[in-house]
Amino acid sequence: MIDPRRLARGLYWERAWSLVERCTRVSDGCKHCWAQAGHDRWKRADKVMPRPDRLEQPLRRRKPTVYAIWDDLFHDAVPFEFIRGAFAVMSLAERHRFIVLTKRSKRARIILADIHFKDCAWPLPNVIVGTSVETYDYAWRIDELLACDAACRMLSLEPLLGPIECHLKPLKPTREFEFGDAARARIDWVAVGPETGSGRRPCKRQWIEDIVGQCRDAGVPCYVKALDIDGKLVVSMDDPRWPTWAPRELPGLIEVTT
Ligand code: SF4
Repeated sequence: MIDPRRLARGLYWERAWSLVERCTRVSDGCKHCWAQAGHDRWKRADKVMPRPDRLEQPLRRRKPTVYAIWDDLFHDAVPFEFIRGAFAVMSLAERHRFIVLTKRSKRARIILADIHFKDCAWPLPNVIVGTSVETYDYAWRIDELLACDAACRMLSLEPLLGPIECHLKPLKPTREFEFGDAARARIDWVAVGPETGSGRRPCKRQWIEDIVGQCRDAGVPCYVKALDIDGKLVVSMDDPRWPTWAPRELPGLIEVTT
């Protein structure tokens, strides 16, 4: 479904679904948010603005596609009914995959517990719900994500600004007995990378190597988007500086075209 050449360039989605204009910064990781910077530069909207006119875009696309929702769908200024409409489209567009990333995982948890649709499998099997965490100060977002009603949960550690303990549980069954929600509450995929763009803050190789190790120990796929090697950003896996310990793995939900 996704072109391996995109993956080699550090891109794990194919199309952006820009459902909300603008966002507001919530934490350190937002400092150089390029989506926010673009809105600042082009003055496309002076307040957070849902775009109902774009809701049906994925329904018009036949080719199975991996969509990433830009900005933050779970921003407080986005009404419940709009978010419900977005998930209704995702449920109808079964052929696509959707990555819904938020820094507002508490609101995501509350809304996803309340949004179920009749006559459809829930949680939606084609939707990856994820949260972004930049330092351990925001690790509470991971606990909120684990409590989210989602078929696939993603942890985005980008930009990584410090060491993080990811709260991963083995994806494969263990001898440990767990039941119900506790058994299902797992992180299914981790993406990690340094900050990009001008003024980017440093990201130690050790921090990323440690995340890769946590994923390997738990059997969770890990996608290293880029690396900060001697102060230079290295993105391509074809670069001779790309180390063998840095994988680009995907969750089962996203297939690679051959
Ligand atoms: S929450 Fe996400 S989209 Fe919003 S300002 Fe922060 S980084 Fe940008």
